[in-house]
Amino acid sequence: MIRKLIYLGAALFLLEGCGGALISNKQERSIGRGVHAELKSEYALVSPKDPVGKWAKAFIRPFQKASERFRSSREIGGYKIAVIADDTLVNAFAAPGGYTYLSTGLILKSKSCAEIAGVMGHELAHVTQRHGAKSIEKALAGQQLIGLFFDEGLAANSAEIIWGFLQATTFSREDETEADTVGLKVSYHAGYNPYGLANFFKSLLKDSGGDGPEFLSSHPATSKRVRSVRSQIKRLYGKKASKKSSECLTKMKLKDLKARIRSGKMKVIAKTKSTQSSKKATAAGWSKGSAKKKKSSATKAGWGKGATKKPSKSPATKSGWSKGKETP
Ligand SMILES: [Zn+2]
Repeated sequence: MIRKLIYLGAALFLLEGCGGALISNKQERSIGRGVHAELKSEYALVSPKDPVGKWAKAFIRPFQKASERFRSSREIGGYKIAVIADDTLVNAFAAPGGYTYLSTGLILKSKSCAEIAGVMGHELAHVTQRHGAKSIEKALAGQQLIGLFFDEGLAANSAEIIWGFLQATTFSREDETEADTVGLKVSYHAGYNPYGLANFFKSLLKDSGGDGPEFLSSHPATSKRVRSVRSQIKRLYGKKASKKSSECLTKMKLKDLKARIRSGKMKVIAKTKSTQSSKKATAAGWSKGSAKKKKSSATKAGWGKGATKKPSKSPATKSGWSKGKETP
């Protein structure tokens, strides 16, 4: 939906027909670094020195290799992973440039490591297929896109604007379907039972009645989606699929991972923003039910409608889809 609206405004101004990507690999890496800095200010991350942080690093390794068939990981400087320390948040996210995140809440909710693998395979697929980068390219008029960068790096305030945009954007159904297909192949080749993705969606389906997990708001879990994932796996891998691992292929297994998260001993890097502002940021971003507000704010902030104004910090902040106020 959000993309449709933005499309209408920006279509005329897009650099149509110029062939390759408008955002270079180097620029994509700059976006990732910028997004990571923004995310760190709004979410507490598990220290990479903690067993949970070490687990994440080991966990993602086979995914990098498995994703090479879709996109060289050199283009994005390899995959980076961080765990968001929030047991109440059930979400995973990947930013352009190969920055991937999953929350402790998602780990706790997963019934097997194959489920986590399914979700992370899906998230990596958004990076290999450049869905995030493409959504920025599509949403921004040519001059605005150029204004985001200073040479190959990000211009001042661009990180905040892009982070806000990515939080407010849901991918199209086509992109989601592609990420499911590529993602299940990535998780299979990483050594995991690819049915994990279908199983995770299935357990989300059960929660979809109420105020479900955050992952649901950007990833509608429907029975049709579960069926489609399952039939693809059957067609591609037959009985071989279930022979792949459901348990973590890391030294630390899921049971111990959950125990460490629940232990209260996990080393956490505190977010840099105050609790109040980060709560607002959460409300403006990953939680359910704020898409409409964000959409209009995003349009107001000059992303759509072919506004000639360069994106700058103030409209984005005023509009409330990054740091600023969440209007009721
Ligand atoms: Zn997705």
